[in-house]
Amino acid sequence: MSGNSTEPVDEIVIRGIGVSPGVAVGEVTIFAQNGVSVVERPVTADKIPLEIIRFEEALIKTRHQIAEIQRKVTSALGDEHATIFDAHLLVVDDRYFIEEVIRTLRERQFNVESITQDVARRYIEMLSKVEDDYLRERAVDVRDVTRRIIKNLVGETVERMDQIERPCVAVATDFSPSDTAAMNRDMVHAFITDFGSSTSHTAIMARALEVPAVVGFRNITAQVVSGETVLVDGSKGIVIIRPTSGRLLDYARKAEEQKTILCELNTLKDKPAETKDGHRISIAANIELPAEVDHIARCGAKGVGLFRTEFLFLDEHHLPDEDEQTEVYARVADRCAPDQLIIRTLDLGGDKFSSALKTAPEMNPFLGWRAIRFCLANPQIFKAQLRAILRAGAGRKVSMMYPMISCLSEVLEANSILAECRKELAEEGIPYANKFPVGVMIEIPSAALTADLIAPHVDFFSIGTNDLIQYTLAVDRVNQNVAHLYQPTHTAILKLIHQVVRAGRAQRIPVAVCGEMAASPELVPLLIGLGVDELSMSPPSVPMVKEVIRNLRISECRALAKEALRGGPPEGILARCRDLLKKRAPEILELIS
Ligand code: PEP
Ligand code: MG
Repeated sequence: MSGNSTEPVDEIVIRGIGVSPGVAVGEVTIFAQNGVSVVERPVTADKIPLEIIRFEEALIKTRHQIAEIQRKVTSALGDEHATIFDAHLLVVDDRYFIEEVIRTLRERQFNVESITQDVARRYIEMLSKVEDDYLRERAVDVRDVTRRIIKNLVGETVERMDQIERPCVAVATDFSPSDTAAMNRDMVHAFITDFGSSTSHTAIMARALEVPAVVGFRNITAQVVSGETVLVDGSKGIVIIRPTSGRLLDYARKAEEQKTILCELNTLKDKPAETKDGHRISIAANIELPAEVDHIARCGAKGVGLFRTEFLFLDEHHLPDEDEQTEVYARVADRCAPDQLIIRTLDLGGDKFSSALKTAPEMNPFLGWRAIRFCLANPQIFKAQLRAILRAGAGRKVSMMYPMISCLSEVLEANSILAECRKELAEEGIPYANKFPVGVMIEIPSAALTADLIAPHVDFFSIGTNDLIQYTLAVDRVNQNVAHLYQPTHTAILKLIHQVVRAGRAQRIPVAVCGEMAASPELVPLLIGLGVDELSMSPPSVPMVKEVIRNLRISECRALAKEALRGGPPEGILARCRDLLKKRAPEILELIS
């Protein structure tokens, strides 16, 4: 990619995994949970003078900061206490140290903060070994001052989301799902990370909050510095460091065009998701935070198909008790009315942990003590949630489903705990929903393969394709190194979905998909063709998916699915899906690619 010819072409375009669409331009803020983090970054010979200038500027800034502290200490405590800062000022002006940094920088050609850190380390080591007490104590001054110089070189670094006080693009090695949930949308205009993939809960949260995000760069934290301008294109999965004005102009133009398309899509809000030949699909929303429920009607979804309740449990200091949960579920159900709210019971583990619960780390958390397994082993936590759901369900349209079911016996065990909760509530005279639909998520291959045995015991199936793909193809859903192997159009996945649909049909229970496949405009025709009744997705995807469905014929979706089930490489099947989308809704394909 090239830049504007009238200015120095200095922009760098790098490709990652686009996980949340949208474009944002902003200054980088480095997010480092463990304090200032210095990353080693090679610099070319022509950039060495610039690194020296950065170093000199950092020295000047450090000198000013120390002088300012000295002034404050003098006025508060007197001269005597301020003399310690004379020693600090001597360190900033130490010719030996400064020359050593510049010499090493020229020789090794790495960014000046990593060189400064290296030289300071050697300097401190040397001082701490000398016999002279006075000189040995100087090591402490050097550590203090060089830390300050490095901080000034690295630029603004924050350790917690609430420390971000000005609009920025947040950059980190990784963000946890709860970091993402805590992002202030007015401050964090986009985020980019070294790790991650598109179905991690961090990515899911970013889409829900509509924060453009690109992840999986492996070393983005080594390529940008705080304060530098970057453009993040979450749809294309690229980041442009120091974009040229020509580039910014192109993007502004494209953003205008997209805005027009999105405005047109919003007119579909009250129209049904019905194919041209009259086949209707229910469209519901996935929500992670209770506040999201306020957006679902605006985007045209009917109710909530998946409420990921574990986000209520990610607070460091506090687990919500039964009453608090009842209040939240009832409030969300009221906001959904007259449509239904499907509450998923706790799915902690995998990539979502509650520090308040203090569970021991596991080697393979996605295969470990997660979701229903954790709940069945911790009945007091599970029962508090079930009782809260039962109470909130009284007089409201609430359903419930269990995540990560691997076999029928888990469903039966969970249902018997539910029955126990009903009995207790009845005895206590507390109003509760006497009967409401209880479903299971099908997201483990063993559950998909035995769906016919599970179906008679439940009221609906909801296929969690995010996990179904990870467990079927043995691809860790949060590992960027194997992200290319994470293929929704693998024949194994399509056959499993088809098998679940058939089991649902035989028992006359509805089958939904609430994994990210349901939000992909390219894959929606395939899912409909496979016979899925309902799609549940993050609210911003609803208008696009509706538009796709309204331009399709069920016959062509079934033909597509039939062909895909015959096998063939996943890339080939994806290409057929894309061809159909290009024919029926080209503007949507344009929007997502
Ligand atoms: C899924 O696995 O597809 C799903 C919807 O659940 P989660 O992404 O929360 O694991
Ligand atoms: Mg899942």
